[in-house]
Amino acid sequence: MPDEYDGIILGTGHNSLVLQAYMARSGLRVLAVDRAPAPGGGLATIENPRVPGFRHNTHSFFHRALTSMPWYRDLELERHGARYIEPELNVALIFRDGRSLEWWTNFEKTAESFGEFSQRDAATLRRWVEEFRPIVERILIPEAQSPPLPPEQRQELLGRSRLGRRLLEVAALSPDYARSTCGLGDLAILFRRSWPGGTWPKCAWAVPPTWRRP
Ligand SMILES: Cc1cc2nc3c(=O)[nH]c(=O)nc-3n(C[C@H](O)[C@H](O)[C@H](O)COP(=O)(O)OP(=O)(O)OC[C@H]3O[C@@H](n4cnc5c(N)ncnc54)[C@H](O)[C@@H]3O)c2cc1C
Repeated sequence: MPDEYDGIILGTGHNSLVLQAYMARSGLRVLAVDRAPAPGGGLATIENPRVPGFRHNTHSFFHRALTSMPWYRDLELERHGARYIEPELNVALIFRDGRSLEWWTNFEKTAESFGEFSQRDAATLRRWVEEFRPIVERILIPEAQSPPLPPEQRQELLGRSRLGRRLLEVAALSPDYARSTCGLGDLAILFRRSWPGGTWPKCAWAVPPTWRRP
């Protein structure tokens, strides 16, 4: 290992690794070090200790549209052997009674799964998807592919359009307020009841199907 570097990056999460790859492509010699035993940060993949042979991410596991990010293209990851698989069933929340709430690539299947728990929530979900499709296409995707703006400048820019103002309005809501005012009420009550102790989880990310409780 060389003993001189142009730069040292603390941490080997994917943001560090992307930065390191860009710097290396510019001809710089860069070392990335991590206090954890394996690189990858929140995206690290390990073998599940309870289910040998199954490998998945310890934290972040669901990365929709990752392959359309500019860095994925720029760094030609597929030419280097990367193959990103998005299963049709993306995420499932398994309940104790054996039912599951499912999030599919195909939106209609997702809405049907919501409908098995609550027709009202399924209708709300459809309404939100309709409303947010143009916001995602015209604001969020272009934003994800551009250098970030200072918050005040972003706010000012978004404030100039109807879609931008709606995004700012919704982004300012807390999840609990959004739940009570936007109509995804039945499922929220079900989550609360099915969570140990009947309280809200601090972190409400769904878990991958292979990680169901024993
Ligand atoms: C439970 C959970 C679920 C998530 N699910 C999703 C998801 O499904 N989809 C999604 O897109 N995002 C998800 N996220 C968010 C995603 O994991 C993070 O946005 C992403 O990992 C951030 O990447 P990063 O490179 O900035 O930093 P990180 O991935 O956090 O990596 C930081 C690295 O730096 C190391 N480090 C820190 N301090 C030091 C130090 N002083 N010296 C040396 N090393 C150091 C750490 O060990 C770590 O390896 C989830 C996050 C959590 C916590």
